[in-house]
Amino acid sequence: MNTKEENFLTKKFILEQKDKLQKKLFFLISENASLHDPTLTIKDIKDKRIAEIKKALERIKKGSYGYCQYQGCGMPIERKRLEAKPQIYSCLNCARKHG
Ligand SMILES: [Zn+2]
Repeated sequence: MNTKEENFLTKKFILEQKDKLQKKLFFLISENASLHDPTLTIKDIKDKRIAEIKKALERIKKGSYGYCQYQGCGMPIERKRLEAKPQIYSCLNCARKHG
């Protein structure tokens, strides 16, 4: 697989994940609509997720997607971690180190 194909697949993958997350969020929002003033929490969750996804999309553009963003690291992020959470930005070592 060449880099172009890899980038295309990565982009496709993250867009699919984004779509799934948005659907999940919509479900969460409607599920919580009957609770007393859930707006802030749900909005916070939504904003945070959207910000994370936007950052991930920026990393795809810059070509740093899939690599640990901690300064001085830059190791490839474990595939399993990316599959579980496509917007993830750190390798397992750094995640443990930085909490
Ligand atoms: Zn790292």
